[in-house]
Amino acid sequence: MNKNIAVIRGDGIGPEIVTQALRVLDKIAELYGHTFTYTNVDMGGCAIDKWGDPLPQEMLDRCKNSDSVLLGAVGGEKWNSVPGNMRPEKGLLRLRAGMGVYSNNRPAKIWPQLSSASPLKQSIVDKGIDFIIVRELIGGIYFGEHKTENVDGTEVSSDVLVYTEDEIERIGRIGFETARKRSKKLCSVEKSNVLDSSRLWKKVMHRLSEEYPDVELSDMLVDNCAMQIVKNPSQFDVIVTENMFGDILSDEASMITGSIGMIPSSSLGATSCGLYEPIHGSAPDIAGMDVANPIGTILSAAMMLRYSFDMTSEADCIENAVSQVLDLGYRCADIMPRNESEALNCRQIGCSECGSLIIEHLRKE
Ligand code: NAD
Repeated sequence: MNKNIAVIRGDGIGPEIVTQALRVLDKIAELYGHTFTYTNVDMGGCAIDKWGDPLPQEMLDRCKNSDSVLLGAVGGEKWNSVPGNMRPEKGLLRLRAGMGVYSNNRPAKIWPQLSSASPLKQSIVDKGIDFIIVRELIGGIYFGEHKTENVDGTEVSSDVLVYTEDEIERIGRIGFETARKRSKKLCSVEKSNVLDSSRLWKKVMHRLSEEYPDVELSDMLVDNCAMQIVKNPSQFDVIVTENMFGDILSDEASMITGSIGMIPSSSLGATSCGLYEPIHGSAPDIAGMDVANPIGTILSAAMMLRYSFDMTSEADCIENAVSQVLDLGYRCADIMPRNESEALNCRQIGCSECGSLIIEHLRKE
């Protein structure tokens, strides 16, 4: 199969981790007889420096004309003082909206080899952590009107949160469909005791549930959900929620699984052209040091093969190789055990060595 992948290296550790993911994809192409062509896309701080715009239209078009997009991360202190609508992160929001990817799916799964890296008590971890957060990605408060004005000598800011029934319904369907493929439990998270948009959210989810009688729907307020994720994460299978709640809850969920460096994500809309990226940011504190963990990006590439290209065996091949490298005790700095006796059975590796080890363990089934 021939596939054209738009590649956004971005800022900070972005170029390092994407390089490793592309090496892995090249080896997969060789093993399975595919051709992956990469089209470079400038986005984020590097695009501001080069083009004066975090996502020039031509770069967005390159993404929309590709079969899928692989992204490292964008942003950094250097661009903190540029105006809000020209920030690197604005490029990311425009990319998601421009590609129409309204559903962000983040697995929160603990790798058995890393269970001690979870900050939760072992007794909680032992019950298992394996759920998915389905987050609405291109609506809600991040896309509403943002305004700061001076009213009678005082600065007043507002951010508007809007959801239409249709926007809620299409993400709700992804939630139900995802639950259907897992253990058929869907938890809809909102703040219906306070927000009108959440009351509409809840109403639409319950209306949809009549079409999915095999899926058990529950409701949870977002503040309670934040507590339950640390108290009893094994109760969750699929969580569906709006943009801002999903942003916050999925970062919390990533922490309980050990490291932010391990977690991939996919964002999809109505077509198979998706956006695949690790959930972490550009980590400027470790950029250029060859210590970043590339596994979140490599697993994002595996998700791309699975969900956009229907290459199940190829995706399994990458995930198995990651598991074997962990079995052998290799750990990037962020997942090195803190406990001395456990650390004795592990060896710390850098970003490029991690990529090489995963490539070495890729075996065609
Ligand atoms: P961050 O995720 O970049 O870093 C948080 C901490 O996790 C840091 O200590 C970092 O060193 C560590 N970390 C992150 N990824 C790692 C990896 N792969 N391996 C090892 N350690 C890793 O979050 P931040 O510091 O809040 O943000 C830094 C910049 O990234 C900001 O400009 C922010 O706006 C941007 N950001 C971008 C995205 C994105 O591109 N999707 C997402 C979040 C933040």
